[in-house]
Amino acid sequence: MLWKLVCLVLTAGSIVAVSAQVKTFPFTYTQQDLPNGLRLVTIPTDSPNLVSIYVVVQTGSRNEVEAGKSGFAHLFEHMMFRGTAKYPPEKYNQVLQRAGAASNAFTSDDLTAYYTTFSKEDLPTILAMEADRFQTLKYTPEVFKTETGAVLGEYNKNSSDPEEKLDEVLHDTAFDRHTYKHTTMGFLKDVQDMPSQYDYSLKFFDRYYRPEYTTIVVAGDVDPKNVRALVDQYWGGWKRGSYHPDIPVEPAQQGARENHIDWPSPTLPLIDIAFHGPAYSDTSKEWAALDALATLAFSRRPVRKAGRPRAEGGYASRQYGSKRGSESVGSGSSG
Ligand SMILES: [Zn+2]
Repeated sequence: MLWKLVCLVLTAGSIVAVSAQVKTFPFTYTQQDLPNGLRLVTIPTDSPNLVSIYVVVQTGSRNEVEAGKSGFAHLFEHMMFRGTAKYPPEKYNQVLQRAGAASNAFTSDDLTAYYTTFSKEDLPTILAMEADRFQTLKYTPEVFKTETGAVLGEYNKNSSDPEEKLDEVLHDTAFDRHTYKHTTMGFLKDVQDMPSQYDYSLKFFDRYYRPEYTTIVVAGDVDPKNVRALVDQYWGGWKRGSYHPDIPVEPAQQGARENHIDWPSPTLPLIDIAFHGPAYSDTSKEWAALDALATLAFSRRPVRKAGRPRAEGGYASRQYGSKRGSESVGSGSSG
């Protein structure tokens, strides 16, 4: 019996030794910065014929620094599907349909991402079409009004979900000055005011939809040299901008804070407990350790909206960790 136990321990030890040699990210990739500041990451994988591209703009609700102007990063996730002179929405969708492509986007506190998956022969077409909408997006004040109405509808729909409301109030309670005070949806009064902010929307696009804020990730059945040549061809002429947001620093919190939401209809009780974490760092182990701890200690919700509270014997629990950017709480994303 004792022998068996020792044997098991040795086996477990050898597994640990092997897995320690495995790279965290198992693929070989190339990362390059174009002269205009655009970052390109290419990851060849063993996925015959399949390619996915992510165009990530480093602009989320964190970048919404002006009073009365929250929610614009998410609004642009919508506006980006309103077309250009060359590719009006119908034509854009037609190209995607012909390619059999799957495409969508999301916004978080720190970024907005647009992604498409398709067959490798369509890579030049998709890269050209995406380059066009990031550089020459055009929309009329009428279209803008329609889309801001859709965003207000999304806010109202989300607000009927107690979890969403809890998240909104958590952000508002946990922060005084930092832009994480509002969620990616934005403050209600700002969302209501969006229809009258057409001119500001042009300014927002001009500031942030620039190569120095953008990273293109191409993964799948691709050759990095070929991808670089295509990105140079279609994205190389994109002009760099000059805007740098002055994101307020959150003062250190002096004591515990709490808030409460009365809910008008029956719901299970929900509780969010959040801690301010360290700012994001590529080099500090603290951040990575907290991330691992959150995963080990709590059952992190895999995807917002997909995760529902688990009701067992009349109680519900929802525990998840978060390792967001600087001074982080919660986990925000909007569709
Ligand atoms: Zn949305």
